[in-house]
Amino acid sequence: MPSRIILKSRRARPFYARHPWLFAGAIERVEGTPVNGDEVAVHAHDGQFIAWGLFNSNSQIRVRLYSWVPEQRLEPDFWKSRIDDAIRLRHGILGLNDPKAAYRLVFSESDGLSGLVVDRYGEWLIVQFTSLALSHRQQIIIEHLIELLKPRGVYLRTERGVGEAEGLTLRDGPLWGQVPDGPVEIVENDLAYETELRTGQKTGFYLDQRDNRRAARGFTAGRRALDVCCYTGGFALNLARGGATEIVGVDVSVAAIDLARLNAGSNAIGNVRFEAADAFAFLDRLAAAGERFGLVVLDPPRFARSRRSLDQALGGYQRLNEMAVKVLEPDGILVTCSCSGQVSREDFSGILGLVAEHTGRSIQILEQRGQSPDHPVAASCPETNYLKCFICRVA
Ligand code: SAH
Repeated sequence: MPSRIILKSRRARPFYARHPWLFAGAIERVEGTPVNGDEVAVHAHDGQFIAWGLFNSNSQIRVRLYSWVPEQRLEPDFWKSRIDDAIRLRHGILGLNDPKAAYRLVFSESDGLSGLVVDRYGEWLIVQFTSLALSHRQQIIIEHLIELLKPRGVYLRTERGVGEAEGLTLRDGPLWGQVPDGPVEIVENDLAYETELRTGQKTGFYLDQRDNRRAARGFTAGRRALDVCCYTGGFALNLARGGATEIVGVDVSVAAIDLARLNAGSNAIGNVRFEAADAFAFLDRLAAAGERFGLVVLDPPRFARSRRSLDQALGGYQRLNEMAVKVLEPDGILVTCSCSGQVSREDFSGILGLVAEHTGRSIQILEQRGQSPDHPVAASCPETNYLKCFICRVA
């Protein structure tokens, strides 16, 4: 018999509503002696069954919930069918199945698989475990992925902080098959990119910005463009395709800039220049030199990692956006992003309001975009709605 988790009274509502994270503070008692990674049944205070989940005493998320159907236990077939569901979205509905395509196959809570991320880069799969309990089910998950996708190799990447959060000790390395021995070429929006799957940021590429890069193209014809935090050139190369007269890209990572230059060359794009520098210092220099642009992309890293750091993060976004507005020509286009889940859409448009006030420029938000649909937002887990990409006119 699986152990039972009994919730405190009046704490069950979010879990009936299918939120997958049960924090320790909502638990009244544990009936049984579950070992970390075990399947447990979660019950309301009055004894009613709510869901099946996986237990981890190391984690603040004491139980991750996966199944709300009493008969649907967390057996191997359950995990396989969840993976099948995730793949049906990408292949059947979104049509993301070209041999060199790169996309997220499984996105954790967004796919009802809290703690598992799988990205596909052509013939390669990159897997991340952010939950101890799912990492215990690694074999069944990997075997099923191999059977369905027939990759050349499956490689494990780990995320910073997961060890402490979950008591999970994993190291990057091959899980199955071959290991890519250099950069892997992918194609996105008709552009080719070399990606470093073993050493690059995230799992090699910022897959969640695919559709925003494409959308930015539509605003760029005839404009001089600046791509701030350009990584390996994702936005910059799309801006070139969209008809920008000249593009400058900047990123603090030298490795990323090296790849950005390589990518510009292999796509025969000559009117782009990349520089390795700090974004704030670089924008200061541009402003001081009187340089102006018709379009600026801002895609900084996550400034807020927790609720506590939110105020500081909002200040950082405000400062960066003000600096960008200062180098924008009248009627310029600002493509401004925030990948901090802690920063809501309202917070973000509020920041743009402050930027307008401080710079004396009026800002109109033309498009309020999110992450590409291979990173779906789970209606039951608002935290999955993390990426904001606002395309604005700055008068
Ligand atoms: N726009 C990119 C993704 C950007 S992710 C794309 O489409 O692929 C955020 C980037 O910000 C990372 O490449 C990181 O190296 C860079 N970064 C982090 N801190 C920075 C800083 N202070 N100045 C410039 N770049 C920075």
